[in-house]
Amino acid sequence: MATTPVSLRPAAQRTDPYGVSREELAALLAGEPPYRARQVWEALHRRAAWPPEMTELPRPIRERLAEILTPALSVCSRREADGGQTLKWVFEVEGPARVETVLMAYPDRVTVCVSTQAGCAMACPFCATGQGGFVRHLRSAEIVEQVAWAMRERPVTHVVFMGMGEPLANYDQTIGALRRLHDEMGISWRRLTLSTVGIVPGIRRLTTEGIPVNLAVSLHAANDTLRDELVPINRRYPLARLAEACADYVGATRRRLSLEWAVIGGVNDRPEDAEELARFARALGAHVNLIPLNETAGYRAPGPPRAVHFRARLRALGVNATLRRTRGQEIAAACGQLAGGGG
Ligand code: SAH
Repeated sequence: MATTPVSLRPAAQRTDPYGVSREELAALLAGEPPYRARQVWEALHRRAAWPPEMTELPRPIRERLAEILTPALSVCSRREADGGQTLKWVFEVEGPARVETVLMAYPDRVTVCVSTQAGCAMACPFCATGQGGFVRHLRSAEIVEQVAWAMRERPVTHVVFMGMGEPLANYDQTIGALRRLHDEMGISWRRLTLSTVGIVPGIRRLTTEGIPVNLAVSLHAANDTLRDELVPINRRYPLARLAEACADYVGATRRRLSLEWAVIGGVNDRPEDAEELARFARALGAHVNLIPLNETAGYRAPGPPRAVHFRARLRALGVNATLRRTRGQEIAAACGQLAGGGG
């Protein structure tokens, strides 16, 4: 259960292992042969090893680095579900604040779901993270380190930015993390997915960024009246503008767009909802990911038959739709359940 973090780095010279640049690392190792910096860099990024474990280094260097490059996250809890195929960490970060990370192992891949903010300001009423409000942005090094913790357990193949927080509301740090995961950890763009509530200027900026990651949009409603309620940022960026930005993203990157739809019984799983969604999705060539609602606040889950029925209806309307298997429900690791309190 919860353990008190020992050191959240008071010493001024301490720094994030995944925040230093190659140049800064070389400066830290000044006086050593140049291959040392390369060795440490690769150990950090390719093996997710931290200085105390870099036994290939001479002890004095290892000890000096261990003083400086200290992990930014400290584990409050680590829990398993689904027979060990789902892992959830609750981490404490400077603040103090709590963030959560989920690893999901499948036969053909290992996906890590990372948080980009402690809390979230988007206030979607059915999402547990939204209820707690916003605490602070994560630094890119803190986002990358979540993946490192997962890599220490399993060979990570995919990363989805679908944990706590709104990635496009923390744009620069999110992009910094995506770049480091791609450039240094060797995860290809097509194995990186960013999920957003639909912050249109953020999608537009991402379109020009030159990093063709997969884009997922949390749609949940395909008419403005309902979406204004379910995803309040829709009042600022309504569906027509969102659709335009998505179309441009797809045009520029050639990535398939996915639309997330938490199926909420009696709210967005009616025949007319399927029709509106089908029109929206078809126009964008988007794939629809249905997530049976994980009950959190006042919203009811549809019950599996209704979700299956909704999917069938979408398919009949010519939409590529999948019903996502829910992972980690019993450890509150599923979509919309991350609240930072589990442990
Ligand atoms: N803020 C970003 C990243 C979070 S992704 C975004 O919203 O896209 C988390 C996904 O889980 C989002 O699609 C979110 O809408 C969905 N979700 C939130 N609460 C949920 C719940 N109670 N049941 C199922 N899905 C939920």
